[in-house]
Amino acid sequence: MNIHEYQGKSILKSYGVVVPNGKAAFSVEEAVAAAKELGTKVCVVKAQIHAGGRGKAGGVKVAKSIEEVKAYATEILGKTLVTHQTGPAGKVVNRLLIEEGCDIKKEYYLSFVIDRNTARVVMMGSEEGGMDIEAVADTMPEKIIKEYIDPLVGLASFQAKRMAFKMNFAPTVIGQVEKLMGALYRAFMAKDCSLAEINPLVVTNDDKVIALDAKLNFDDSALYRHPDVAELRDESEEDPKEHDAAKEGFSYVTLDGNVACMVNGAGLAMATVDIIKHYGGEPANFLDVGGDSSVEKIAKAFKIMLSDDQVKGIFVNIFGGINKCDVIAGGVVEAAKLVGLTVPVVVRLEGTNVKEGREILRKADVPEVILAESMEKGAQKIIELVAKQNAKLIG
Ligand code: GDP
Ligand code: MN
Repeated sequence: MNIHEYQGKSILKSYGVVVPNGKAAFSVEEAVAAAKELGTKVCVVKAQIHAGGRGKAGGVKVAKSIEEVKAYATEILGKTLVTHQTGPAGKVVNRLLIEEGCDIKKEYYLSFVIDRNTARVVMMGSEEGGMDIEAVADTMPEKIIKEYIDPLVGLASFQAKRMAFKMNFAPTVIGQVEKLMGALYRAFMAKDCSLAEINPLVVTNDDKVIALDAKLNFDDSALYRHPDVAELRDESEEDPKEHDAAKEGFSYVTLDGNVACMVNGAGLAMATVDIIKHYGGEPANFLDVGGDSSVEKIAKAFKIMLSDDQVKGIFVNIFGGINKCDVIAGGVVEAAKLVGLTVPVVVRLEGTNVKEGREILRKADVPEVILAESMEKGAQKIIELVAKQNAKLIG
């Protein structure tokens, strides 16, 4: 789960990370009031969305007067920000962070993340902060310094010092940097984070070390231990389809293509996405209906898939184990009638009672539902039908 920058900063502050004074604002009036309360000469107006790259997209503005705060807040609130992390559709800004400005001497990068290869938390740092760290990793990988942390020992003081020196901090600020690293690590561990990223971490002209941005991601499986964090969820930032799916108990993942995949089981989901790709198609998503193939569940799954305009066809690929194929087939046919399909559906069934299941599909009087004899044929068929649909749209 993600949270907003201002929420992240408030958590980090409670662990001793130095952050600028600031306040969240949901309206222009609140933004102006927050700036007056801060009372600083310079204020920064920052768009709060669950994506980075706001600076380059015009979502971070430095204001030198209350009038400017008002003008920037008016401009940014309600605006759709398109950054390299939002995708082309962008994200609407509903919240702002009004923060005291700071006089930056240099920007750095600092993060903690889980490294699966070593099964350890790794601290990463770079003196090339501020800009997009992926580009640094690509073009100057030697500029990214890493320290792997022993889970029993925790972040050792020599590691923090070594990292700080390698990042070329001035000796006068090393103490502050080390303290901040320790505080960030404690927050990361205590809150079961999967990522804690400060970009930029800055040194100011009066030699203060401050976290100017904060991105915290949390391990969903550990959220039950942190009701205070779970409370910070902002549903408006999440994909409404993924939301609806979670409510129904489906695992659902949005992808970029146009073939929706309804499956049961995570392994079959991966195999289905792979085979669509193998035959030149592009999956729009996969939805794992799990063990329940009642008409209601399948109808709900169809509805979620059809609510995505990108979807031009659905591939149902189900293995009937405990779920029997005839029950699944009946469910698909009834659900198709109930929902009123607008795109073709190719169904591949295998497993218990497969003969009966296929018979039901063959006899079904729903022209959009087509039976496939195998997974390969099914994948090829749905790709062909989607291509035809696209040709029709263009023609
Ligand atoms: P991101 O682009 O979404 O990662 O947003 P950031 O919070 O990292 O802000 C982007 C950039 O805005 C930073 O790299 C800074 O250069 C600049 N910025 C942010 N806060 C301040 C501030 O208080 N003073 C000044 N002068 N610049 C700031
Ligand atoms: Mn940033």
